[in-house]
Amino acid sequence: MQYDFKNKKITVMGLGLFGGGVGIAQFLVRQGARVTVTDVRTAQELSPSVKRLEGLPISYKLGGHCEDDFVSADMVIVNPAVPKDSRYLHLARNNHVPMDSEINIFFQLCPAPIIGITGSNGKSTTTTLTGKILHQTQRTTWVGGNIGKSLLSDLGEIQPADIVVLELSSFQLEELLCSQTSPGISIVTNISPNHLDRYPGMNEYIQAKKGIIAHQKPTDYAILNYDDPELRRWEKECKGNVLWYSTRTTLSEGAFIDGNSLVLSVKGNTIAVPCVSGIKIPGIHNLQNILAASCAAYLAGANGRHIENTIATFPGLEHRLEFVRQINGVQYYNDSKATTPESAMAAVTAFQTPVILIAGGYDKGSDFEEFAGVCAKRARSVILIGKTAKKIEELIRQKKEGREMPSLFTPTTFREAFQQATTIAKSGDVVLLSPACASYDMFLNYEERGRQFKDMVRAL
Ligand code: ADP
Repeated sequence: MQYDFKNKKITVMGLGLFGGGVGIAQFLVRQGARVTVTDVRTAQELSPSVKRLEGLPISYKLGGHCEDDFVSADMVIVNPAVPKDSRYLHLARNNHVPMDSEINIFFQLCPAPIIGITGSNGKSTTTTLTGKILHQTQRTTWVGGNIGKSLLSDLGEIQPADIVVLELSSFQLEELLCSQTSPGISIVTNISPNHLDRYPGMNEYIQAKKGIIAHQKPTDYAILNYDDPELRRWEKECKGNVLWYSTRTTLSEGAFIDGNSLVLSVKGNTIAVPCVSGIKIPGIHNLQNILAASCAAYLAGANGRHIENTIATFPGLEHRLEFVRQINGVQYYNDSKATTPESAMAAVTAFQTPVILIAGGYDKGSDFEEFAGVCAKRARSVILIGKTAKKIEELIRQKKEGREMPSLFTPTTFREAFQQATTIAKSGDVVLLSPACASYDMFLNYEERGRQFKDMVRAL
């Protein structure tokens, strides 16, 4: 596909804070386009992104949109988070203004093969791990996408022999579905209900996720989690090769665990990497992420030594089951990125000891039934905040069927929740922030929530 952006009047709708808006704006300016950036959020809310664009010739319409930017533009670049039924998109469509997206333009113009990674949970961890393993090889590796970095501005340097590792959200995959493009190597970590405030139902969400395999070629690879019931149903829809990975089952092909070894059996070759005891990131869910990343990196040229070296040193990402500090025998973990019940369940079950859990937040339509069951069984205490607090409290109360544990609290502020946790905690306990919910009702984003938690831990 040919693009010509020079002197074109282009509206970037949705600057956001995840890097996509910044990336496309920088790219378009460099291509000689006349760029307007517009967002419903204010300059203050978007200040980290606005700062990254400082000094560039861009006009801004922040804190709301202007009809004219959708009527008289030569093109509108739509952030994947913008609701499809936005009246401004209708306006552009009615005025025959072409629309495109950052991720689609990148896929069309990228000269190197792409490893795409999606799933309801574990995308960023798996993306980072895949990148880190490949960084050890001779192959130049680029990591970006939904993880917070657009690679559009690196296009000039990316060579055909390089490899690109991209985290892809369901919204970005919808864009790729429209342009009938899928990555050459795809990973899907798991599928559970997420973003159901944005999708009419689970089916639509799954359809969007399937964008990652829908247009693969027969020589491409789909790396899928064998332990995920939904993904087990995907095999017949895969057009390329399927490689499964499992922490529970020995597979004839794919990636699995055998004692202390991570076994990769791909294209007739089998290697065993003795690394399991050296893994730094806790939980079965992280073992799954490691299997997926190793499998993709192996396909792209990594060997056992590259995998072993990475796994032995990877400490995990900030805000993902991140160990903060131990004080008076109490361990504090920040898992602020756990914005779904499944990721919070993974955190609660990653510990042998019962946890004191701080959870709750913005309601994105998740079902907390199973999460409440896990809390009732595994937590010593659950302290709930935000919009979902009462709902989750009631569910846990039902699940614990009159038992004393876990004790339940619903304070008003985050600080009170933290103070409650420190009051209850005894030596040997784990205090875990793993909200199971997004943060938007009380914080700018999950990073701010995690940072506030860590600040309070450090101030103890
Ligand atoms: P994503 O990019 O999909 O949001 P992250 O790697 O950023 O995934 O992790 C988000 C949250 O999910 C963290 O709380 C993390 O501990 C948890 N998590 C990571 N991997 C998995 C997984 N495979 N299954 C369930 N939860 C996971």
